[in-house]
Amino acid sequence: MTSDHYEILGIEEDATQEEVKSAYRRLAKSLHPDMNKDDSTGTSDKFKNVKEAYEVLSNPLKREKYDLERMRSRRGQTGPPPPTYSPQQRNTFLYSGPPIASQRGADIKLSIAISFQESFLGMRRGVDIGMPVSCDHCGGSGAAPNTPVSGCPTCKGSGALLAPVQTPQGYVNQRVLCSTCNGRGILMQQFCPKCSGVGLINGVENVAVSLPPGVEDGAIIKLNGKGGHGLGNGPRGDLLVTVVVKEEQNMKRVDNDLYIEESISLPKAVFGGKHRVNTIEGRRTLRIPPMTKSRTEFLIEGEGFPDPVSGEHGDLYVVVYIDPPEQLSDNARTLLKKLAVEIGEDLEQLGV
Ligand SMILES: [Zn+2]
Ligand SMILES: [Zn+2]
Repeated sequence: MTSDHYEILGIEEDATQEEVKSAYRRLAKSLHPDMNKDDSTGTSDKFKNVKEAYEVLSNPLKREKYDLERMRSRRGQTGPPPPTYSPQQRNTFLYSGPPIASQRGADIKLSIAISFQESFLGMRRGVDIGMPVSCDHCGGSGAAPNTPVSGCPTCKGSGALLAPVQTPQGYVNQRVLCSTCNGRGILMQQFCPKCSGVGLINGVENVAVSLPPGVEDGAIIKLNGKGGHGLGNGPRGDLLVTVVVKEEQNMKRVDNDLYIEESISLPKAVFGGKHRVNTIEGRRTLRIPPMTKSRTEFLIEGEGFPDPVSGEHGDLYVVVYIDPPEQLSDNARTLLKKLAVEIGEDLEQLGV
């Protein structure tokens, strides 16, 4: 049976705290003694190991110590010892890039609901988003404030070394984690109590989210570098915004064309005339020709949605519907009845 905490939990070495937790929960559920009264398969031993692995890996301080010991013991087991180098030679192996232990921040996914008008015009607004942020207590260093911190003498603060590793082609220098500082580049005496040495805490950041004019419902907009903060000055993750466009009562979008439904009165449909339409960008005046039928479409070219990529506009269609008058006076009813007779309606078939 393996004694490796990572193997016991079935997770990778770089598993996040969330992954550690969920692996433990999953295993604990199937191995818990209450669930396995008949212990013929050694589940209680397995449960003990799982519990122990979880206790270590879920605690950043214990995990770091364990990682260090694990790395040292592994190095001791594999292959012949690397050749020794004089201090001058060793210096040539110093790696000057960012510490290996630094990790890119998490990608954050969220949906943002915007109005129909905002999807046409574009949107820019600050949004409060819960994400891992740099610990404000220690400034992200992971060390308790006012406790001694020094640069790691082995790796000169870089967190990594180029060490000779044996390959079929002979010894090749590879970038390896500095075992003195475990890749942090610094040595600290006490971990920050707020973030337990991780340098990150769960927080909220107000992120300026901007969506292009013409953005569609269901589009996923990637905002580079606006996601979770990275470990050890690692780069930030990305923000993936799924756009949800709210419906608008008398408007709809088909591809990049905008359809606006407008009611016109019966006399206007019959006699024709001017009709004012409120579009998203302003007002337009339509010329309604005499004897216009319900559902007639009026095309206004180039006033539809802008394409979010090319910026080219679709067309605007105004679809007219003939509305009966909302209220009728007695006199109007009489006149309408007369009109009905005049234009050949069968009064018996009308509800008059
Ligand atoms: Zn902290
Ligand atoms: Zn170091």
